[in-house]
Amino acid sequence: MKKIMAVNAGSSSLKFQLLEMPEEKLITTGIVERIGMKNSVFAISVNGKKQEEVLDIPDHAVAVSILLNKLIELKILASFDEISGVGHRVVHGGNKIAESLVLGDDEIAYLEEIVDLAPLHLIPNLTGIKAFKKVLPNVKHIGVFDTAFHHSMPEESYLYAVPYDWYERFQVRKYGFHGTSHKFVSARCAEIMGKKPEDCNIIIAHIGNGASICAVKQGHSIDTSMGFTPLDGIPMGTRSGAIDPAIIEYMMNKKNKSVKEITNYLNKQSGYIGVSGISSDSRDLVAAAAAGNHRADLAIEVQAKRIVDYIASYYVYMGGADAIVFTAGIGENAKTTRSNIINRLGALGIKMDEERNDCRGVERLISTDDSKVKVYVIPTNEEVMIARDTLALL
Ligand code: AMP
Repeated sequence: MKKIMAVNAGSSSLKFQLLEMPEEKLITTGIVERIGMKNSVFAISVNGKKQEEVLDIPDHAVAVSILLNKLIELKILASFDEISGVGHRVVHGGNKIAESLVLGDDEIAYLEEIVDLAPLHLIPNLTGIKAFKKVLPNVKHIGVFDTAFHHSMPEESYLYAVPYDWYERFQVRKYGFHGTSHKFVSARCAEIMGKKPEDCNIIIAHIGNGASICAVKQGHSIDTSMGFTPLDGIPMGTRSGAIDPAIIEYMMNKKNKSVKEITNYLNKQSGYIGVSGISSDSRDLVAAAAAGNHRADLAIEVQAKRIVDYIASYYVYMGGADAIVFTAGIGENAKTTRSNIINRLGALGIKMDEERNDCRGVERLISTDDSKVKVYVIPTNEEVMIARDTLALL
């Protein structure tokens, strides 16, 4: 039995889960928020009860010390030595990293080299890694990369039709994200179907605030909707998804804005919030649409159409599919959104069982018995996947 910490460090937050492996039992979970600001918040769940404390936490290193000392104080750990390994969620592994690995000096230097690929996420990820390494120098630290699962994509999927030296000299290519989730959910789906991953083709619809679709052929990602960055693909809570790139220059001129400002609109003021003008949260849109708000309904429909475009295209690309899986906040909880998507796939012989679909956050088959492709809801668990990879590398 080993205790493994799964960590997700953001610019001002640090989420953690302590898990007992290989049992995959959650010992505790929590978050440090507002790091570097006044009134930072440390929250931890002990025996299912949330405890919160407001403190001043100037940086990630202090956040890590406080978090570890809390684990001792709350008698969750007797000493730091009980932690066998720390698995760090890392947003980007660049062109080279194709699997989870031990984070030594060379690996950290490589991540620093590619920081330009995802500065908003990689910089805080690196800060978190360094902070944990400082406080726990004798423990192995493992990087689990959002991009790694998509390294199996063939050139025809990952290459953009732009001047080739953009790829060769500047690493411009599709990387894909949510890889840890797509890997976890596709493996679980194969298991539920009683098949080996190499014997099935699965389409994963990870629809949360961020959203991506992935074609998993015989256990490997062969295409996914997010691209060079997580802005590509389907419309999301606040992101536009794919648009005609010429819109950027056109709108810069119309609004007299910089590239940075227009990109900010595409990342923060588009998707659900952009189309509806109401909210980036799917619950608000579902409620407003039910009350007759046309733009809320439109935001949902625009996204559904785009999701179906990807699912249908991946179905053909893989030569058929055994299953379609819904996961993440919206995929696991929003039955009307799931119905709306599946009902558009009738031409492929895919049929939703509305009674089975009447569920939230549970693992369930939701297609009819005669549906040509099985449709499942499978809750994702990126932390368990991080802990599994960490355990495997210890
Ligand atoms: P995630 O990014 O995976 O945490 O997903 C966040 C999204 O899931 C938000 O848009 C939430 O509104 C959505 N969500 C969570 N619960 C529900 C629900 N019961 N019905 C509809 N959407 C939900």
